[in-house]
Amino acid sequence: MGEMIRLDRYISECGECSRKQAVSIIKDGRVTVDGNIVTSPGLKVDCEAAVAALDGRELKYEKYVYYMLNKPSGCVTAVKDKLSDTVLELLKDVNRKGLFPVGRLDKDTEGLLLITNDGELCHDLISPKKHVEKVYHVVADKSLPADAVYLFEWGMDIGDDTRCLPASLEVKGKTDRGYEYELTITEGRFHQVKRMFYALDSKVIYLKRLSIGGVMLDPMLPPGGFRRLTDDEIKLLRKSKTIE
Ligand code: URA
Repeated sequence: MGEMIRLDRYISECGECSRKQAVSIIKDGRVTVDGNIVTSPGLKVDCEAAVAALDGRELKYEKYVYYMLNKPSGCVTAVKDKLSDTVLELLKDVNRKGLFPVGRLDKDTEGLLLITNDGELCHDLISPKKHVEKVYHVVADKSLPADAVYLFEWGMDIGDDTRCLPASLEVKGKTDRGYEYELTITEGRFHQVKRMFYALDSKVIYLKRLSIGGVMLDPMLPPGGFRRLTDDEIKLLRKSKTIE
């Protein structure tokens, strides 16, 4: 037997809607539990054994949920903030209780941000010991020196107690935006990419995360758009940590 929880919580934790929306969906008679229509949002159901359906479609209760967000510039990677919009607030019509961002992107950084309630996976993805690759598209104001690829590979000194772990730099070339690069790192130090470029006398003028642990930002997601991860993407993330 699983935990007994209220039906409105159960429906929203299936990822269908917010808790408030679940209450009205249930009151409208659209939900069945074990084949019977239930209109009481407070009914306690066994979250493992109950078979609930919404409009005749069977629901899947999941303890953990995983979203990818295409973070736009201008919002902060936090659950709540007094002054600015947060990444969590972009997850409209989602039950946000217990959700948190995996790691942190700066306010002006765009791109892939994972949001979940799975603390263990989050820890593994951000731990430098697990060597999970994060790939960034970087536009800089100045060209990096000719030996930058080797310097990144060797481990950059950005003024911390230890050098950065080896990083892989791909030179994309000069465009009208600036000097473009793709950088793969396996840690998440504070302002790491910006500080790595700064150490070589170059300023990051645009930064976007493209992937984490092999999971790529969905090109169909506009800035601010989000979707659930697929089962294959979740498997990929669980496999992505290479070192204990
Ligand atoms: N490195 C940075 O400097 N900023 C980010 O947002 C992510 C990585």
